[in-house]
Amino acid sequence: MSIIGKSNPWTSSLPHELQSLDIASRLHVDSEAIKLASRDFGKMVQTIPSAILHPSSIKDITTLVKFSYNCSVPFSVAARGHGHSVKGQAMAESGVVVDMTSLNNYGNGTGIRVSWNPSLGFYADVGGGQLWIDVLMATLEHGLAPVSWTDYLYLTVGGTISNAGISGQSFLHGPQISNVYEMDVITGKGEYVTCSKHLNSELFYAVLGGLGQFGIITRARIALDRGPHRVKWVRMLYHDFSAFTRDQEHLISINGLDYIEGSVIMNQSPPNNWRSSFFPLSDQARIISLSNKHGIIYCLEVVKYYNELSNDTIDEELQGLLKGLNFLQGFMFKKDVSFVDFLNRVRSGELKLQSKGLWDVPHPWLNLFVPKSSIMDFNDGVFINIIHKQNKTTGPILVYPMHQNKWDDRMSAVIPDEETFYTIGLLHSSGVNDWEVLDQQNKEILQFCDKAGIKAKQYLPHYRTKKEWMNHFDSKWDIFQQRKAQFDPKMILSPGQRIFNSVL
Ligand code: FAD
Repeated sequence: MSIIGKSNPWTSSLPHELQSLDIASRLHVDSEAIKLASRDFGKMVQTIPSAILHPSSIKDITTLVKFSYNCSVPFSVAARGHGHSVKGQAMAESGVVVDMTSLNNYGNGTGIRVSWNPSLGFYADVGGGQLWIDVLMATLEHGLAPVSWTDYLYLTVGGTISNAGISGQSFLHGPQISNVYEMDVITGKGEYVTCSKHLNSELFYAVLGGLGQFGIITRARIALDRGPHRVKWVRMLYHDFSAFTRDQEHLISINGLDYIEGSVIMNQSPPNNWRSSFFPLSDQARIISLSNKHGIIYCLEVVKYYNELSNDTIDEELQGLLKGLNFLQGFMFKKDVSFVDFLNRVRSGELKLQSKGLWDVPHPWLNLFVPKSSIMDFNDGVFINIIHKQNKTTGPILVYPMHQNKWDDRMSAVIPDEETFYTIGLLHSSGVNDWEVLDQQNKEILQFCDKAGIKAKQYLPHYRTKKEWMNHFDSKWDIFQQRKAQFDPKMILSPGQRIFNSVL
């Protein structure tokens, strides 16, 4: 059953005139569709929409948004990528959720097309609902690949571009939003607009990191470079946080590496986790004993890309790049894997957890950008005095630096006002009934930062009040609001972010 009808309890909030549009047959109100769109990866929020649109073309989405815009009482519309938000960001209470991945089933210009021109070089035109894993596989067929990634590839292009899209390549290439040349966007007025730095640039910058507030991305033109075949992948362990961060900052300041991240190992957690199974079984006991001895240890992770046929000096080069680092003697671990296996490293952990029923569980995550000047205080106050002490941690903890100058301030994304800042990812998993304990710990961490004067910014932000959103955007709030008034004046789009519909 897919056509909305008067008797359907979910549709009373939608105008009946919707039924006369030709998209009606693609509006789903069956309980399966509603259930899927009312949940996300976080498993902590449930919001019931009135219907789900499975668009067969970009025009279907334009028709829907335009219809809502012209209604006397507009209904909300949320683009849903892969639903991998954690706090209901892609949901629409009593509105319509647009399943962006449906577009990938049709040949309506939303596929993945690789091209070249003299001013941009190689690039890919990619549908907003495409998964990054599919972008990778399609571009590699041409020997090319995007340069900036997320750690996990089963996310959509529109979903990550609405945030930023960061990983260990961001220090070098900037976030994914710094590597977009052009987009097609459906605004909150139902207008279909092509935008770039030079064409409708206000919309272009608004949408990059714009949390879905200004338009639905149906195509993004993404920068490509030659795709390497293989990677040298190295992890080094530290017990001294200042040596660890000093080395990270040194490595992001020199040329040569292609990826730099870092993580925290504590509370007897196994060194391997779903983010990637890296450490050999034979070394795990001594890593655990090191972590028990020091309480907390830190893992610096780097990668250098190479092509086996054209590079026989790779080991020497890597050795040169890592010379002088202060990791613990005897705690350097190396791997040599294919480029695809490296980029898709999280997938095997996901499949393992899925088979044990441990993937589809609540994820009370907290992601922060912390200025470099406060990172030592953050280590003392948060890693040591909150997380380690409370011993509740149940997932990877990421910590790695990047450069502010790789981000364009005209974009909606918000970062700290300091040349170097750290990404902190507290990627908790929990049982169905105990996520609130970790959520409470996250609140404590935010309160600590406030009190200690640490000017951290949330990444993948979630707030309850308008005041908190205004604080988050700070000097960008006025422009963010003006852009909303310009591109989505009736506040139709992405209500699940709770920015313009939050309490005061
Ligand atoms: P959704 O959750 O479906 O949507 C997110 C937001 O974007 C919503 O507001 C939605 O309305 C809007 N949106 C979706 N599609 C569009 C579109 N086409 N046009 C306009 N708005 C749209 N992030 C990183 O940066 N780096 C990482 O390494 C990383 N790793 C992750 C690993 C895992 C296992 C998970 C679950 C998440 C990870 N994330 C990471 C976070 C992820 O980038 C965001 O949650 C992202 O929004 C998820 O993409 P999605 O397609 O599922 O988006």
